[in-house]
Amino acid sequence: MNVEVSRRSFLKAAGAGAAGTALGALGFGEAEAAIQAHVRAFKLARTTETRNTCPYCSVACGVIIYSKGDLRKGEKAEITHIEGDADHPTNRGTLCPKGAALKDFVHSRTRLLHPRVRKPGSDRFEQVSWDNALDRIARLMKDDRDRNFVVKNKDGATVNRWTTVGFLGASATTNETAYLTYKVVRGAGILPFDNQARV
Ligand code: SF4
Repeated sequence: MNVEVSRRSFLKAAGAGAAGTALGALGFGEAEAAIQAHVRAFKLARTTETRNTCPYCSVACGVIIYSKGDLRKGEKAEITHIEGDADHPTNRGTLCPKGAALKDFVHSRTRLLHPRVRKPGSDRFEQVSWDNALDRIARLMKDDRDRNFVVKNKDGATVNRWTTVGFLGASATTNETAYLTYKVVRGAGILPFDNQARV
C-alpha cells in the first residue's frame, strides 16, 4: 500500500510516539497506547486549521492557526493554538521566540484592531471606520500628488517622481500582494518605499 504522509503528520505521530515509547520503557504499556491514540486529538479536536504567515519579519515563516467556532454557523471563531507549519518550505515547522508567542500577540489587550486618527489640534486618537480611513488616505494622497508631482527635473529630463509621500510595506504579504503593491507605488511615482522588516 502506498500511503502519503505529510511532514507535519509524521512529526505529530513521532511526537506522540516518543512520549509513548518513554512510558512503555517504564512499564506503563496501557498509558503508552492511550497517549499514542489521543494526546494530539484532545488538544486540537474540532478545531479549524488555517494556514497563514507570521507577521513579524521578512523571513515570513508559515504558521497554522487552530480555531474553535464555525463561522459558517454564525459562531465566533476563537484562536486556541498556533504552531509552525511543518510543510512550509521556509521554516519547516520551526518558529523563533516571537513567532512562537503569536497567540499572545493575537489576544493582546493592547492590540490595535481599528484605524485611528488624531485630528489637527487634538491630543488624542479617535477610532474611525475602515471606509473612512481609506477614503481619507486616498483624498490626502491625491491632493498631495497634485501639488507635488514632478514631471521633469531642472534639466528638462522626464522624471515623473513624487517624493513627498512614503509607503511602508509589510513582510507578511504574499508574493502576489507584494508585486501589486510595488506596481501601485512605483506607478504613482512614489520614491520613498520601505518595509517593516528593514532586511
Ligand atoms: S517566526 Fe520569527 S523568523 Fe519566522 S517570520 Fe516570525 S519573527 Fe520572523
